[in-house]
Formats: sequence, structure tokens, C-alpha cells
Amino acid sequence: MNHTHGNYIDGQWVCGSGSMESRSPSDRSDVIGRYARAELADVDNAASAARKAFPAWMESSPQVRFDLLDAVGTRLLESVDSLGSLVAREEGKTLADARAEITKAGQIFKFFAGEAVRMNGELTRSLRSGIDVCVEREPIGTVGVISPWNFPVSIPAWKTAPALAYGNCVILKPSELTNASAHAFATILHEAGVPSGVFQLLMGDGRAIGADLVANESVDAISFTGSSVTGQRIAAAAHERGIRLQMELGGKNPLVVLADADLDRAVDAALKGAYFAAGQRCTASSRLIVEAGIHNEFVDRLVDRIGRLRVGHALDPASDIGPMVSAVQRDRVLHYVALGKQEGAHLLFGGKPLDRPTEGYFLEPALFVESHMGQRINTEEIFGPLATVIRAACLDEAIEIANATPFGLSAGIFTSSLASARRYTRRSRAGMVMVNVATAGSDYHVPFGGRGASAYGPKEMGRAALEFYTQTKTMYVAA
Ligand code: NAD
Repeated sequence: MNHTHGNYIDGQWVCGSGSMESRSPSDRSDVIGRYARAELADVDNAASAARKAFPAWMESSPQVRFDLLDAVGTRLLESVDSLGSLVAREEGKTLADARAEITKAGQIFKFFAGEAVRMNGELTRSLRSGIDVCVEREPIGTVGVISPWNFPVSIPAWKTAPALAYGNCVILKPSELTNASAHAFATILHEAGVPSGVFQLLMGDGRAIGADLVANESVDAISFTGSSVTGQRIAAAAHERGIRLQMELGGKNPLVVLADADLDRAVDAALKGAYFAAGQRCTASSRLIVEAGIHNEFVDRLVDRIGRLRVGHALDPASDIGPMVSAVQRDRVLHYVALGKQEGAHLLFGGKPLDRPTEGYFLEPALFVESHMGQRINTEEIFGPLATVIRAACLDEAIEIANATPFGLSAGIFTSSLASARRYTRRSRAGMVMVNVATAGSDYHVPFGGRGASAYGPKEMGRAALEFYTQTKTMYVAA
């Protein structure tokens, strides 16, 4: 295992002096590979290569961009099994989840291939006679993409695809926990024939290479997905330079279950929303707000289902949930389990590390009951298989609880009343609201993103991506 996989700069695979090892969180003895650690000079080289490549890429025919994105999409869809296994092995999500992630990444590239061709402007009449007004959309330049580990292929895909479709160059800085997945993604772009400098990969520590990327004067915009704490640092640096910024951040997503809900469906959505992917989804249902009349029955049914979840090696098809991605994440959840108990919530199920045949970061899914919004377990993002049940007297109290955090990513309600559902969707402060649907899970052809402390700037995906990755130019033309 001496080979080091390089960064991808100006069409070349480049190794410097340092490197990082990637290991499976399901089995610490499973070494996936070694990956080059980028240095400041690599950031400079990538930024100048992008600057050099931009004019030709910006001027390239939409058909050229369609063909590239379509080819990347095809390759992703063809590698659902191989890349899915790699993502499961490196990130720890189950094979089924990892395959679904690669499929979505492929579909996103296909969607934005079409968007490259559909990139329209606007033609209108001036208020002054004899003059036409044409509003054209142009790319921004070089976009720095900084991504987290929990969707190591689909998040880079949903940022890279629109950026390239609209004529920008991309420098991707993935999470240092999922270098193998990011390297495989970059390899697909390379093999599909992306021109030198148009897409580049820089692996390395966030506080070093990520920060250098934001500070580099040849980088024109940053699209970031990650924690709110990192987001604040990036925002300060980006605002100092006055560059365009888009951020998707943390969540503390509520799922309301009213007494008139279909309880089987509600319990199923709560279980999957809270615990699948080991709760490591920004849209996970971490607060279950249940109307008093069905509270006890809901809890009984949920605990029965949690008890039957199989936590195990991500590559074992029998596993419902894999490990936590790292020791840091596992310890963070254990810290919140202890804190919840100290705060007076009742730990009804789980919350302990689990031994498995391989040494990994396995955790028993945890459920707190008798919980309220005065407790930090209900206001801070935990990002693990830990959910709380909060009792609500009625719909209005449930709405108040649901809105009582600074976050606003995804929010759900289970009810058979259209009136209650509409009251909830109107009053929710989240960017995405689900009625009788789990809080996690979204489509690529419509806007994705949060409000409040969960996001900053234009939404991602669908036609909304045009807002961030292009800028308008207004032309007044007289004959
Ligand atoms: P993180 O903030 O620790 O890291 C995200 C990325 O930022 C990594 O690539 C990291 O190397 C980089 N980074 C760290 N410090 C930096 C700095 N000072 N300057 C520049 N880059 C820096 O997040 P994570 O632990 O990788 O991911 C989990 C978080 O991501 C959770 O909070 C989750 O809610 C959030 N998330 C949000 C969404 C969404 O769409 N809202 C989706 C997925 C994950």
C-alpha cells in the first residue's frame, strides 16, 4: 500500500510530500489507500490553471458541455456497484444507501447536461423607444467547492454539475475523511475528458487547504456544505474578499406526528428519518414532536422497531445501519447521550458503543423521551443515531416547538387533516417541508436548502442552481 493517489491539478495527478491514509470506519484494519495532502503551492497552481482554462470553457458550445456532463452521468451510473461499495467502505453508510447516492449523482449530471443547453436569457423592450433589452446569464469564473463526508459523491456532484454546465471552472476540496470517494469522482471526470483546469481536486485539511482556497484571489465564489461552525469561518473569510458565497449548514429537523396520523407510516418515517445512515444526514429527523393522545403508543411502536434494527459492517447486506464515520463523531454522540441524561431527559433505548466482529465505530441507536426544548439535546445538532420525543398538547404547540431552534432545513408532519397540514406548511420556518413524507430525502430537479442558521445564499439543485452559478449582464441595444 505504498502508492499515493494524487491531487488532480491542470489535468495531471500530482503528489506532494505529505499524504493521508483512508481507513474503513467499519473495520479499522481495512486500509483503503493513501491520498496526497495538498499544499499552499497546489492551491495557487490549481487556481491559476482554472483562470487559464476559464475563457475557453465559458465560450464552449452548450453541446460540448452537454456531452461532457452526459458522459460523466453515464460513467457514474455504470459504476453504481463499484463506487457504491467504495463509498460504503469509506463513509460507513450501507451498500443500499451508497448505491442510491451514486445513482443520484449520475442523475444530477444528466439533469444539468440538459440545463447547459437550456441556459436562456431574457429579451424585452426598453422603456425608451427603439431600444431592446437583453438579459444574458454568464458564469462567475472559478468556484471553490468545499464538501463534507456524509454524501462524499452526491454533494460534490450537485455543486460541480451546475457549475460546469453554466461555464464555470471548479476546484473541489472534499472532506479529509472521504478522500477515496472524492478521488474516484475526480477520476470519472478525468476519464470523461474534462479539459485541463476546468475541474480540479485538492485533498487536504479544511483549516489549511480549505481556508487557502477561500482566501485565494483567483477564486471567484465558494459553495460550501458542512457544519455551521465551519460555515461561520468561511463566511468571515469570503466576506472579507467580497466574493459570492453559498452555504448549506446544519439542521435540527422536527417531525410532528398528530393524533390523526397513520401511525404505521409515521413510525416508519420517524425510524428511517432518525436512524438510517446512522443519523448522519443533515435532514435527519432528530426531534419527534408527538401529540399527547398518541404519544405512548407512538413511543412503544418506535422502540419495538428500533430494537429490530441491525447495526453492522457497512458492506454486510444484512446491516440496516453502519458505523459512525469517525471516532470523533462517535464520541460526540456519546457526549450528547451523557448530556441528555444530565439534563433530565429519559434515555429509553440505546446510546452505547457496540462490539462487532470487526473493530469499528458502531453505536446503538438512542431514543430519549420526556424531553423538552430547554435541553441542549434539542437545540444543538448532534449528527448521529440519536432522537428525542417531545410531547405536544396540540398542533399549535407542535408548531411552536418545531420552530424553536435557529435552524430551518427540513420539517415534517404526519396527519390526515389537510387543514392541519396546510397550517403547518405555512407556519414552518424550514426551507423544505414534508407532509406524510420523511424529513430526509429530496429530489434533484427542485430547490434544495434551508433557512435561518441552516443556510446562506441561493438554494441548490434544480433551476435554483442558476442563481448561484451565473451572473446577469443587461444589454441595451439600438439598431
Ligand atoms: P465540517 O464543517 O467539519 O467540514 C466540511 C468541509 O469543510 C470539509 O471539507 C472540511 O475539510 C472543510 N473545512 C473545515 N474547516 C475549514 C475552514 N476553516 N475553511 C475551509 N474549509 C474548511 O463538516 P463535516 O463534519 O464534514 O459534515 C457534517 C456537517 O455537514 C453537519 O453539520 C451537516 O449538517 C452538514 N451537512 C449539511 C448539508 C446541507 O445540505 N444542509 C448536507 C450534508 C451535510
